[in-house]
Amino acid sequence: MRYAVLHRGDELSASLTNRFHELAAAHGLTRDESHPEIVISIGGDGTMLQAFHQYFPILDSTSFVGIHTGHLGFFADWKADELELLVQYMADNMQQERVAPRTAKYPLIELEIDGDDDIPKTFIALNEFTLKGLDGTLVAQIDINDQLFEMFRGDGICVSTPSGSTAYNKSLGGAMVHPSIESIQIAEIASINNRVYRTLGSPLILPKHHSCNIFSRKKQRLLLTVDHLTFPVENLRSIRCRVASQKVTFVRYRPFPFWNRVREAFLGYDENGCQIT
Ligand code: NAP
Repeated sequence: MRYAVLHRGDELSASLTNRFHELAAAHGLTRDESHPEIVISIGGDGTMLQAFHQYFPILDSTSFVGIHTGHLGFFADWKADELELLVQYMADNMQQERVAPRTAKYPLIELEIDGDDDIPKTFIALNEFTLKGLDGTLVAQIDINDQLFEMFRGDGICVSTPSGSTAYNKSLGGAMVHPSIESIQIAEIASINNRVYRTLGSPLILPKHHSCNIFSRKKQRLLLTVDHLTFPVENLRSIRCRVASQKVTFVRYRPFPFWNRVREAFLGYDENGCQIT
């Protein structure tokens, strides 16, 4: 089995990476940074975002596993002291196929950019993308399924995936969405409401095959963020987004249901009501 490791860069994550390579070599796993079957992210959810974007070109042939070296994450659900167990699962799976890994496939967002800025014309996001005004408010027209929906004026718009619904979207009052629901969620960032600019004021969840267009409605300097990446844009005409046709695959050597993660990460206790340290 070919694997690659990407770590956060801190001392603990770097030393765990070295330990991982030692254990992997002892179990006959092959280190392959360019075409891994499994990518191990060591750090936090932010590290997984980096791993996702780095290995996006081979998304269809690779899966991801996250080890956290800080607090429990949504993507990083293995603990630092479980390194040996994880390598054992990987080796068992490779050698005897005794432990067929379960996988969880999560929806992504695809964006098409129409504009004259020197940035990629398409993106795929694991968490979300946001569009914000750089000098003041964002002025935008929002269409859903090619029909006018609302005129937006405010700090910005956040469009998230179900797995990103626990990230920025949550801070904006968006709903947490189970990743089995193929959808995108549009959440407002501090909208202004008056006669001209009137927005719904509630987050919206669009199903697969629906689309949303955000049209820039004046000459404005904007900031586009795609997960951890940021792009200043000055000549944007529109962004079209929808649920992507591709999905990201996470390996689940053991079950860890999404709602358990939510409870443990945000409420801080396990299924027995015990506080998690
Ligand atoms: P960062 O500002 O260093 O960290 C943002 C925080 O978001 C970290 O604590 C990270 O967890 C956590 N996070 C990332 N993905 C998550 C997910 N799917 N569910 C729950 N928490 C998640 O930036 P970063 O590490 O490069 O991450 C970029 C992300 O930051 C963006 O995708 C956006 O979602 C988030 N963000 C949030 C806000 C906000 O809530 N107001 C504002 C801007 C950006 P770890 O500590 O485990 O890495």
